Amino acid sequence: MREAGKITAKILDLLRKSTKSGISTKELDIIAERETKALGAKPAFKGYGGFPGSVCISINDEIVHGIPGKRTLQEGDIVSYDYGVIINGFYSDSAITVPVGEVSPLAHNLIKTTEESMMAGIAMARAGGRLGDISSAIQKYAESMGFSVIREYTGHGVGRDLHEDPMVPNFGVAGRGMELKNGLVIAIEPMLSAGSWKTKVGSDHWLVSTMDGSLSAHFEHTVCVRNGEAEILTKLDEK
Ligand code: MG
Ligand code: MG
Repeated sequence: MREAGKITAKILDLLRKSTKSGISTKELDIIAERETKALGAKPAFKGYGGFPGSVCISINDEIVHGIPGKRTLQEGDIVSYDYGVIINGFYSDSAITVPVGEVSPLAHNLIKTTEESMMAGIAMARAGGRLGDISSAIQKYAESMGFSVIREYTGHGVGRDLHEDPMVPNFGVAGRGMELKNGLVIAIEPMLSAGSWKTKVGSDHWLVSTMDGSLSAHFEHTVCVRNGEAEILTKLDEK
């Protein structure tokens, strides 16, 4: 799972560096797929439930499951890349939201808060804690910064399947839910909205956007509870 995690981290870093005004989401998808194969892995989402792309690319008010295509990134957009790979039978899953050039202070703050809320959740992924500790930490942090938490989409277990039990909601009550134990591997993935948390699904039956058109950001790491604490498997190596 470590290997799967490292490859996903590398590809997301490559997508971050490739982000620029004028590039199409299809071009970004091709880059990710090509580099993943060069590293000996396969994109996890391609064909998953019939998803046609390798990367889920969701822009501005789009939350998740955007299909790559002709649309080009524009200065001031925020773009979410959700990506995972499979190698040696194990999956990884991670996401980042990146600004395209200069973005509004609201967009900047939303991106920062979403990442920080994920880290607040990860800090609670400790042996002896409860699943609700993670959910509650994410929700409290996000809402304290004036943002709302998307309800319909959640984190999840990950391993030999891309999506396994347990569900890891981004809202909830501390002290509730399953006890966290060493060896558990979960994807922690808050999706935040600058407006309402209500969502709608597009005519392609994939793309999920905010109902009120407000901006949305998404961060995700695959995390293992190990030696009592959270170890992030989809973190980029230092240097
Ligand atoms: Mg994901
Ligand atoms: Mg996920």
